[in-house]
Amino acid sequence: MNPSGRFQGDIGINDRAIESVSKNLKGENEIDASGCFVVPGGVDPHTHLEMQSGELVTSDTFHTGTIAAAHGGTTTIIDFVEPEKGVSLEEGLRQRKKSANNEAQLDYSFHMTIPGWHASRGINEREIIDLMDSGITSFKLYQAYEGLRLEDDQLYQTLKTLGSLKALPIIHSENGPLSKTLQAEKLEEGKVEPRFHAASKPPLQEAEAVSRAIDIANLADSPLYVVHVSAKESVHKIQKARGQGESIYGETCPQYLLLDKKLLEQTGGEKYICSPPLREAEDQKALWKSLNSGVLQVVATDHAPFTEAEKLSGDDFTQVPGGLPSIEGRLSFIYNAGVKSGKISLEKWINVTSTRPARIFGLEKKGLLAPGYDADIVVFDPKVNRVISPENLHENVDWSPYGELHVEGWPRTVISKGDILISEGEYLGQTGIGEFVQRGASSIY
Ligand SMILES: [Zn+2]
Repeated sequence: MNPSGRFQGDIGINDRAIESVSKNLKGENEIDASGCFVVPGGVDPHTHLEMQSGELVTSDTFHTGTIAAAHGGTTTIIDFVEPEKGVSLEEGLRQRKKSANNEAQLDYSFHMTIPGWHASRGINEREIIDLMDSGITSFKLYQAYEGLRLEDDQLYQTLKTLGSLKALPIIHSENGPLSKTLQAEKLEEGKVEPRFHAASKPPLQEAEAVSRAIDIANLADSPLYVVHVSAKESVHKIQKARGQGESIYGETCPQYLLLDKKLLEQTGGEKYICSPPLREAEDQKALWKSLNSGVLQVVATDHAPFTEAEKLSGDDFTQVPGGLPSIEGRLSFIYNAGVKSGKISLEKWINVTSTRPARIFGLEKKGLLAPGYDADIVVFDPKVNRVISPENLHENVDWSPYGELHVEGWPRTVISKGDILISEGEYLGQTGIGEFVQRGASSIY
């Protein structure tokens, strides 16, 4: 199966690549996929493995996180370089590559974060060109978080440079100063429980930032990709801009499609704190509709796991490390909540979890079952029944926000560049087989 349609036949693999897609092929080793969907390996363009967050580090390493992703049918991830203050972008990249090298079990790349402290000194074109030459073709910008956040004028200058170099800017759109004020307001009123996390980051503070970023991108003559869109108000802003012919793209995540903010109200609601926060049923509806219509193009995870103890350790909602795990379940979650419930087609499911992210982020040999592409292939068995629980998952974290969720459909076999990584739930990959992938230009340009 590809986003363009379905076909019953065989796939011939030679070495690392797909050689042919045809009927009645014979091979040295054959895998019977009857009764299953054979789809391109998943591409998750938003993960946070071994990410420093204050005193803490996300609990999945490049090793454990990529194994978990492989079990769920993802064969390529794009993580982040977030250079610490005073560290050059190039040095930041060198450090992250060193952490992933010999550890990652899947092919990987990085988005380069341009923090506010870096942008404040002006963007050096040469630095961006050198990074693009080394295969880093997308750049992460923030409208929230002190140190990371870009002022509007810095955002304009940075977008102008990135746009002119055909580098793809991706943005975390929340109005940081506004949500900080709203947080302080809640704390002053003694409202410290997790539900006030959502109240201090209401849909409008997200949509305002999305809208402003879109307008600034327009003024800077740059396209823009908005990460983790959660609110229907933000969807409407993106839809409007696209309707006017502007080059605006975006992703959402399983947590915004499947979970809602009522989870913050229960005991242990701290565990569900992420930014933007979980929203409501109406937002989920708008997000599914936007995936189906193409207003949003990608489902990424924003996988940022912290243990239960770490999530529950703060005195108020502002002290909880933000982020949720979902690197392993993405394909099955979207298949169940999207395809099986009739919200999106099988073809759209493949498109949003593999093909579109591969094209948008310049992964030239990923995301399609066609001759010449990498043999990254998932045999997805729609008849497998599973209950999601930390024991059944391979993520290095002791809880799952999807705990007790019953799903139907899970990968039976996962192949990466011609090697069988997963067979019947067993991980068979050699240690350190993941490679850094040099990405080309985004299809957006
Ligand atoms: Zn993120």
